[in-house]
Amino acid sequence: MAASDQFYQPGDVLYEGKPFMRVIKKDMWGKICSCCFSRHYESRLKFCKACGIMKYCGKDCQKTDWQYHKFECGVLRRCCDNSWPNFSQLLGNIILKINKRNWKTISEKVLNENVSFDDFQISKQVREENSPEHFSYSVFASNVKTLLIAYIGEENVPDEIQFSDLLGKVLSNHVLCRQDISASIYIG
Ligand SMILES: [Zn+2]
Ligand SMILES: [Zn+2]
Repeated sequence: MAASDQFYQPGDVLYEGKPFMRVIKKDMWGKICSCCFSRHYESRLKFCKACGIMKYCGKDCQKTDWQYHKFECGVLRRCCDNSWPNFSQLLGNIILKINKRNWKTISEKVLNENVSFDDFQISKQVREENSPEHFSYSVFASNVKTLLIAYIGEENVPDEIQFSDLLGKVLSNHVLCRQDISASIYIG
């Protein structure tokens, strides 16, 4: 059937993607399974042996979540960001995942098209707030940078131009989900 002949009903799932990165709200750490967010068996959730911070229902959830948790497992204890939505943690995990590669080379296939991390647009509002004369935004950006340095180490924080581009992209495109339990960024 040609695409133009297709009709969709409200609620139809057109595309389902997995996040490029996700973080769990700090006050939920260890209280829910970090993969499926289950809290039914809180007492039966098992700690990740490496960090002793995140908990999982079992091996399957831990294995599935490792694609995200592997970037934060070794540095979670240093995360001093208590602000919702743990923005500097999300940014830090993304930087560790990009790992000094060129953003343009980082892409995911979405409906047969390669979408690059670099394709993220910065919203007009963030762009205006990013203007040099916008005082509160620059205070916010500098707070994020301080938290980021504490979290992933100064050697991993990109230079000022890249940092501010990345900050704008993530700020414009991250989503909060599941009753504000987590914050994620999707390329597709
Ligand atoms: Zn689970
Ligand atoms: Zn861990």
